[in-house]
Amino acid sequence: MPPAMPLPSTLAPQKPAAPFLPFTRPTIDDATVAGVAEVLRSGWISSGPQVKAFEAKLSEYFGGRPVRAFNSGTCTMEIALRIAGIKSGDEVITTPLTWVATSNVVLEIGARPVFVDIDPVTRLIDLGQVERAITPRTRAIIPVDLSGLPVDRDRLYAIAQRHKLRVVEDAAQSFGSTWKGRKIGALGDFVSFSFHANKNITTTEGGCLVLNDEREAKLAEQYRLQGVVRTGHDGMEVELVGGKYNLTDVAARIGLGQLPHLEEFTAKRHELARAYFEEFSRPSVAALGVGLPVANFTDTNWHMFQVMLPEARLSLKRAAVMEALHKEGIGSGVHYPAIHLFKLYRAMGWKDGDFPHAEYAGRNILTLPLFPAMSRADVSRVVQALASILESHRIP
Ligand SMILES: *Cc1c(COP(=O)(O)O)cnc(C)c1O
Repeated sequence: MPPAMPLPSTLAPQKPAAPFLPFTRPTIDDATVAGVAEVLRSGWISSGPQVKAFEAKLSEYFGGRPVRAFNSGTCTMEIALRIAGIKSGDEVITTPLTWVATSNVVLEIGARPVFVDIDPVTRLIDLGQVERAITPRTRAIIPVDLSGLPVDRDRLYAIAQRHKLRVVEDAAQSFGSTWKGRKIGALGDFVSFSFHANKNITTTEGGCLVLNDEREAKLAEQYRLQGVVRTGHDGMEVELVGGKYNLTDVAARIGLGQLPHLEEFTAKRHELARAYFEEFSRPSVAALGVGLPVANFTDTNWHMFQVMLPEARLSLKRAAVMEALHKEGIGSGVHYPAIHLFKLYRAMGWKDGDFPHAEYAGRNILTLPLFPAMSRADVSRVVQALASILESHRIP
């Protein structure tokens, strides 16, 4: 029999294209949209009553600790370092596997970031190496809860106390995470959160800083707005150089609409993360050698589900994998390239080979879609697409 003639492409049955699945997407309910409209109509759209209300709710969430809101997570870390009195010549220890804001704020205040490698299993700063990197100039540590998985707070604060160091927790990704049953932000020294659109709770852009006492909170307010202190109706004084970092009421209203959903968002993220583990444990998928995150279902908020591509067993690089996923209608992300290999940082002396685990992750880590509005079927689709791409580019 002659082979069947292929149908002309216009007659071929078209499989309906699934809608593009981004790696993340915020969930904003109608009540929040209506609330924002109300703020816009109220006549007060910059910092005012909504910011105050948002800060009060956040403080309640963090067990009554003082909290101030800002227009980014980045500036909260810079301000925490300033409040701690860290300055030119001081050293601040952090991880090279994070958003570059974490170390840029150290440079911004004129201090020197000191990187130490990550633990290849948790992908978080290796606390054993932190201790070895401490010098007489070390003043602070900035740990990062990458993907929401908390850095070991017991060990972290034992080191900080032993060496009299301040801690600025970069908890940008860990809103809703816990440590031994306590909320991240409810314990520790300075704790910085981001409300950027991709984070578990958003204000479009924004952030907050959890502080230790009212003196620090007052300084945070000064650094937030031109160093200004107001008293009475007409009193104004300036004692230090502040920036312009205030959150708007429009943004704060979004945050107020997000907070009541936190538990439900986190629960959904856990469910999807469990689905990922299930899909990756199928024998044919498991055989591909993809590195999985720590299967933690107690402490983390599952901000991201990040896998490690098996570099040595693949004939294509991460960019090509991402491209192929994109062709299948699936978004993915890189969080993050290793910071010390950026030009700015290489110019300060760092080089290839300094932090092998962070560099391996920097080349191979891949963030797969995970957000509350996703379905179980989306997870299967992502893993099947990834598995088939890796399968067809496998080095035997
Ligand atoms: C998002 C993020 C930041 C910065 O937050 P912005 O609000 O964008 O300034 C800092 N560190 C980490 C780890 C982040 O994920």
